[in-house]
Amino acid sequence: MSDIEVTGRILHLQRLSTEDGPGIRTTVFFKGCPLRCVWCHNPESLSTQPQTQWFAVRCLGCQTCIESCPDHCLTMTDSGLIIDRERCQGCGKCAEACPAGALETLGKVIAVDELLYELLKDRAYYEKSGGGVTLSGGEPTLQAEFAEGLLYSLKKEGIHTALDTCGLTSQHTLEGLLPYTDLVLFDLKLLDPVLHQQHTGASNQRILDNLLFIRQTMEKQGYPQDLWVRTPLIPEVTTTQENLTAIGEYLALNLNSHVSRWELCAFNNLCRDQYTRLGMVWDFANTPLLTQDTLYQCEQIAKNSGVNPEIVIASGATRALDPL
Ligand code: SF4
Ligand code: SF4
Repeated sequence: MSDIEVTGRILHLQRLSTEDGPGIRTTVFFKGCPLRCVWCHNPESLSTQPQTQWFAVRCLGCQTCIESCPDHCLTMTDSGLIIDRERCQGCGKCAEACPAGALETLGKVIAVDELLYELLKDRAYYEKSGGGVTLSGGEPTLQAEFAEGLLYSLKKEGIHTALDTCGLTSQHTLEGLLPYTDLVLFDLKLLDPVLHQQHTGASNQRILDNLLFIRQTMEKQGYPQDLWVRTPLIPEVTTTQENLTAIGEYLALNLNSHVSRWELCAFNNLCRDQYTRLGMVWDFANTPLLTQDTLYQCEQIAKNSGVNPEIVIASGATRALDPL
């Protein structure tokens, strides 16, 4: 392979990232995800299509955007600008016309070679810190050809690569991506298939099959070199003793020598405004952060589940006390 002119749709690059693999990295956020986790922290990454967001605090009320929309999707009301999201195609004309930067179009189409050029600007800190580039999202495997072209091109440049995946993809896609992937960051949210279906919209069968497939390629092909498993700690959904113990037992039984890190990532609510800007309702909008105690308890459950306790790492913002 690879066709460096193949294009994909991304949200943005996050430079100087320290949470998506070793060292200092640049993370590429792909647009589009096959799961619909009820707690999703990146609502802008769910749809593969471009989306328009409106920032109320920046808006001047000039209504220039309304005139500029070819599809008549915009209406100014007493409670602010309403976007008809059934009709809006995300063409970006309103954002271009807005004098205040109050409208933004999310989802930029970019070719592998153009993106590679941007990513190579950060080579100095990759090399100094032992970092590299992480493909995240959204779900990179949903744009398999683009992801493969990017991973291939990065490896050709000697850059460390990480693939952050929800695991819901085909083995054929993994076969294409894994040869150019140094580290897989694999999300394992819920082990119970019924709860997984209920909270993410999909069964976890294929996800678990793919995790075992990655183990197999590590053994047979020698790649990826490393595998980290990540579990989001969502209050009363994934934080239960049953779930964390079940995941730990599964890892201990099936992947004990393959997973070098099991990260427990605390729920955060930083995305609350993002839901509002996209006109979406979030069931977790009023859910508080975990307490330090709860985070500690989750960590202890994981450490006592049968995996090597040294691979368990719990992180993320917490609140000090329960609300009164
Ligand atoms: S992105 Fe295009 S279609 Fe959507 S509201 Fe703006 S101008 Fe209209
Ligand atoms: S053009 Fe921009 S500032 Fe003017 S009404 Fe539309 S969003 Fe607000």
